[in-house]
Amino acid sequence: MASYAQYLTKEQEDELRSIANAIVAPGKGILAADESTGSMEKRLTPLGLENTDENRRRYRQLLFTADEELNKYISGVILFHETLYQKTDSGEPFVQLLQKRGIIPGIKVDKGVIPLAGTIGEATTQGLDDLNARCAQYKKDGAQFAKWRCVLKIGPNTPSHLSMFEVANVLARYASICQQNGLVPIVEPETLPDGEHDLARTQKVTETVLAYTYKALSDHHVFLEGTLLKPNMVTPGQSCTTKYSPQDIARATVTALQRTVPAAVPGVVFLSGGQSEEDATINLNAINQFQGKKPWALTFSYGRALQASALASWGGKEENIKAGQGSLLTRAKANSLASVGKYGGDLASGSAGESLFVANHAY
Ligand code: 13P
Repeated sequence: MASYAQYLTKEQEDELRSIANAIVAPGKGILAADESTGSMEKRLTPLGLENTDENRRRYRQLLFTADEELNKYISGVILFHETLYQKTDSGEPFVQLLQKRGIIPGIKVDKGVIPLAGTIGEATTQGLDDLNARCAQYKKDGAQFAKWRCVLKIGPNTPSHLSMFEVANVLARYASICQQNGLVPIVEPETLPDGEHDLARTQKVTETVLAYTYKALSDHHVFLEGTLLKPNMVTPGQSCTTKYSPQDIARATVTALQRTVPAAVPGVVFLSGGQSEEDATINLNAINQFQGKKPWALTFSYGRALQASALASWGGKEENIKAGQGSLLTRAKANSLASVGKYGGDLASGSAGESLFVANHAY
């Protein structure tokens, strides 16, 4: 008789558990460098660079060849399909370079956010059709974990039951397919920061979205010990006029997670979601300093908040590569300290305080 126990073998479970635990080892987090070709256009154009595969390769090379120290702070890097197969100037595949440096390669496997018909501007995420074959290939090519991003929007009548149900189900199906292929799924239901709503409303919506998500993961028999959650922090809407402290954000975030995320999940890796680099670090630090039940590692999987000042100090110029790498290292170290609640606020510099908010952000 078919049974739940056949979902994964003991060996498959052990492998997934150990990858997930390595990613959230104390003081470590993820560099999300999986911007799609379209998103890279938005990063490169302001620097006066054309969005070519060569310029994208040069920029990713800058990130991955930063000082050896990087692997003290960064356990994994999420790559875009193209980057998984690119090489350094000297011909070494990026995947090999990362592995040699003790950094685990991961891969974005979703194919983007699309409208969910019949809703008020809500969305789902596509990419399931050939996912099994793609995951099998990515695992062969060195990836050990995957990411799939879904978004939910806060409005007077959203998120709807339909969008939360759909997003939870598509994330669970993705997670199941990843696990069958030996990839740890990062489950990312992002409640977007767009709107005027207050902190309490974001908290309630985040709790509801996470409750839907874990119900679906359970329905699909997903092995929680071999998953990671990538949620938004609970922050007020971008246009909310009430001000909240990092401690308020920490309390709301940890409370939402306590109410919905099973203790079997090894780690929560927050996205930065348009917060400035410094806010993303300070809020992560406050979350880790918050006194209360926290059975999971609470760390980072930042895109914009790890790369904004690196991009700015590089500026697309050969002679500024070291400066760009220095900026990446500064943010990586700051977030590493924040992930264990030991950030003293002394690594803020340059543009680290600038908002990185993009309305209705696509990745
Ligand atoms: P941000 O940190 O820029 O929000 O992006 C992280 C990410 O991977 C979103 O999917």
